[in-house]
Amino acid sequence: MRCRLCHHHTRNYINAPETHGRRLINRSNNYQYNICPHCNSLTLDLSPDDNFYRQAYDKNYYPTLNFSIKILNFISFSLKELIIINYFNKKQISLLDVGCGDGLFLESLNHRFHTHGIDFHKPKISHRHRLFRGNIEHFKFPYTFDCLTLWHSLEHLPQPHKTLKRLFSLLNPDGRIFITTPSATSLGCTLGRQHYFHLDPPRHLSIPSSDGLAIALSESGFTDIKFHPTFYEYPLDLFWSLRSSPLKYFIYPLYPFFKLLNRQTIFVSAKKPPKPTSKNPSHKNGNRGTF
Ligand SMILES: [Zn+2]
Repeated sequence: MRCRLCHHHTRNYINAPETHGRRLINRSNNYQYNICPHCNSLTLDLSPDDNFYRQAYDKNYYPTLNFSIKILNFISFSLKELIIINYFNKKQISLLDVGCGDGLFLESLNHRFHTHGIDFHKPKISHRHRLFRGNIEHFKFPYTFDCLTLWHSLEHLPQPHKTLKRLFSLLNPDGRIFITTPSATSLGCTLGRQHYFHLDPPRHLSIPSSDGLAIALSESGFTDIKFHPTFYEYPLDLFWSLRSSPLKYFIYPLYPFFKLLNRQTIFVSAKKPPKPTSKNPSHKNGNRGTF
């Protein structure tokens, strides 16, 4: 099987029962994540069909919003918005949230954003957002966007490399994509293996590494790839990931230190380069070696 991020042949593997976060869903449903020797990403050995999506995403999959989740969402969405705004000088930013789920991120954004969302189900949120229902691979959008966000949705897609190419075509020149995913090279995944909090088989069809994401982004045409902190996301993910590792006795007493320094999830952003124009100095000189 080939790596879904960099297309190299995978070699070793991790076996894992069906889980979601720290919950064991079904011990007898066993899955195999193949490890890429080139970029260290994990690829689930499974080709999803329509039946898979019906079974894997039943109504129990989506969490109910309690007070602590609302607080964590508020912190996470506010920090993400600050990071996004930092990249734009424009007064109005058109944004498409890919895999917008319940639409809570769109609801959290201020009015500087023209907000759009796409998912398989339309969420019930305010009418100020434009919502699309369908598959990002085939949906025909009436326009392109300044900013694309994928919050923990790329790992659910069967061909992330192909999807990134499609997303590149949906961005305006100088636009930017922002992605969060699990991290195959995090302490939680490396030490916790099948207990990694963000493994989520069979819904997570890949667990990218930073290298895997950087390769897939740059091969899709993106430049200026930047990685951002994620310590504020899922405060207890490392705790639950290490519950069966003997190293927990060393890591738990220093938990905040490890959580701060070792990113359990990846937050990456990248730019669609501007179109070359006749005003571009490299074109003015023609790059023809006339001197
Ligand atoms: Zn790879």
